[in-house]
Amino acid sequence: MYYFGAKTKPSPLSNKFGREYFQSLRKEGTDKLSAKAFLATEQRIPGLVNGVLQDILYISGIHPKRKMANVTDDEYSMLFDTIKDTLRRMADQGGRDTEKDLFGNPGGYQTYLSKKTASTPCVKCGYELHKGNYMGGTIYYCEHCQS
Ligand SMILES: [Zn+2]
Repeated sequence: MYYFGAKTKPSPLSNKFGREYFQSLRKEGTDKLSAKAFLATEQRIPGLVNGVLQDILYISGIHPKRKMANVTDDEYSMLFDTIKDTLRRMADQGGRDTEKDLFGNPGGYQTYLSKKTASTPCVKCGYELHKGNYMGGTIYYCEHCQS
């Protein structure tokens, strides 16, 4: 048994993961998914774990529960840029500060949303960051900056 589907998906840091490819992910059937479900399920974007996609949605101003049908073309385009940019910064800075490498050193990327920043002020608006439960996991978000 071979799982061609998962194997042929390009890494979001590769050149194959371009705007056109990202656009192709948004096809019929994805409209009723929430933004989080869209990014987190079916290996649409390999390696995009919860702790990473939360920051991406935060930077993009998209609430994790927003339906993809309500994400505009401009926002979708910005989402692509944010995925590329955020993953590149995480890679360049040796990972996230919420994780440790083999030697016990935290990464240099300052995570916006994590259990460490829950209930602290949002760096964009100063309003308290929220924590919730969704899709069997914890979500963090800013009620003001994400809708
Ligand atoms: Zn905010």
